[in-house]
Amino acid sequence: MSERDEWFDLARKLDWEFSYVDAHAVFPEDISGTPWLPHAAWQDWDEPYKTTYTEYVTQQSAKDAAVHAVRAAIGQVEDFQKLDPAWLNALKLHAATLPLAEFAAVVGNLRAARFGRDSAWRTTANFGALDEFRHTQIPLLIMHELVRWDRQFDWTHKFFHTNNWVAIAGRHLADELLLTANPIEFAVATNFVFETGFTNLQFVGLSAVAHAAGDRMFETMVKSIQTDEARHAQIGHPVLRTLMQHDPEYAQALVDKWFWRSWLFFAIVTGFAMDYLTPLQHRQQSFKEFMEEWVLDQFQRSLLDMGLERPWYWEQFIASLDWYHHMVYASAYTYRATTWFDFVLPGPDERAWLAQKYPHSWPSLEGRWERIEQRWQQSGPGVEWHSHGATPVGFCNLCQIVLCGGTPSHNTAETLFHGGRKYIFCSEPCLRIFSAEPERYASHLDVVMRILTGAAPANLLELLRYFGLDQDLWGKDVRGGNYPWLRTAPERS
Ligand code: MN
Ligand code: MN
Repeated sequence: MSERDEWFDLARKLDWEFSYVDAHAVFPEDISGTPWLPHAAWQDWDEPYKTTYTEYVTQQSAKDAAVHAVRAAIGQVEDFQKLDPAWLNALKLHAATLPLAEFAAVVGNLRAARFGRDSAWRTTANFGALDEFRHTQIPLLIMHELVRWDRQFDWTHKFFHTNNWVAIAGRHLADELLLTANPIEFAVATNFVFETGFTNLQFVGLSAVAHAAGDRMFETMVKSIQTDEARHAQIGHPVLRTLMQHDPEYAQALVDKWFWRSWLFFAIVTGFAMDYLTPLQHRQQSFKEFMEEWVLDQFQRSLLDMGLERPWYWEQFIASLDWYHHMVYASAYTYRATTWFDFVLPGPDERAWLAQKYPHSWPSLEGRWERIEQRWQQSGPGVEWHSHGATPVGFCNLCQIVLCGGTPSHNTAETLFHGGRKYIFCSEPCLRIFSAEPERYASHLDVVMRILTGAAPANLLELLRYFGLDQDLWGKDVRGGNYPWLRTAPERS
């Protein structure tokens, strides 16, 4: 048998000239992506980490065996019951938003595996699809065990099938990023921006936090997934390199759009987990510090290496590192019954830590928590509604997240008239993303429009049912307001 080196390049480059059909018919621009270039422009496509199918299945099977061994040892309900209840809610947030998004990523990879413009790209995307299928199955398997103990874990599977407002936002992102993007946009958006730009936050940052919180199952799962992501994320670079040669403006526009959309997603999923749902004694760094170390430095370097500019809204993005996830968390705490996981009321120690990590913004955010604290003191433990919001809130017509841009004294909301309708956005980047492709977004119905058109109920209790929730299930304060510091705190005048 020949050595691997002797046949490998021949096997991974299997493109040929078409004689019966035109290349445009095999790779239609609509589905293969823009700019449509002759194959000669793509033929040097090269992935740095090369693997054969035999090597792939051997490695993946060993990785699965390792995850199964950890699950057999520490993946039972009793093991999770030992974890801090606050941390379990970081787990519920991740468990719901991750697995079916990974499944959507299977679809995105499969489209690239057929319509990517070079054979080596298609093969690598094929492995990517198999990876993402694994990332769907592992969390579904691990969390399934927990459903009989805590129904909120059922949202691991249920989340993307509901009309919950977070799921509406999640689908708005995942549908575009993973299900509908052509292979060129997918490579830039998913492989380059999302996977090399942001997922280190999860794989390095959050796995370290999970380790400290004693959650070895989550840590193992995330690290195992990371080894796959590191491989298939490299699809992004060679695609972007060719795109930069032929249409650098489009490349920059894709990076600008997807960095902002990815940022909003990670600010919630990872920001909540790191700065609120991880018990204080287990925190490593603040979310902002992780962002600075793992996203800002590294991502800026990859942009420069590619000849790209920082996104035009960079100053606004840097400013939002101090505010955005705090604003959304405070809002979500106040409307906690609209989600499928529970929230922590940050106490004096947590707030002192947040004030130290966010000296610029925390003094302005503190007041909102003091008011919530007073509400709990008035009602006593167990009375959720006294410290819960009742008035309707607005949602951004691009990201579909609660309007939380800016600061408590200066919001960054923007409006636009388009097609006889008024649209509202949480921020200038969301407005500009919408304005660049209004035909893509204009007909989407956000929660408020659903209520106005009668598709969703206006009454809050009925709306919660529309969101897929019932009294057992919906989000509460994780301790029902029963915090030792809250009882002993002196009455405020
Ligand atoms: Mn994945
Ligand atoms: Mn991936």
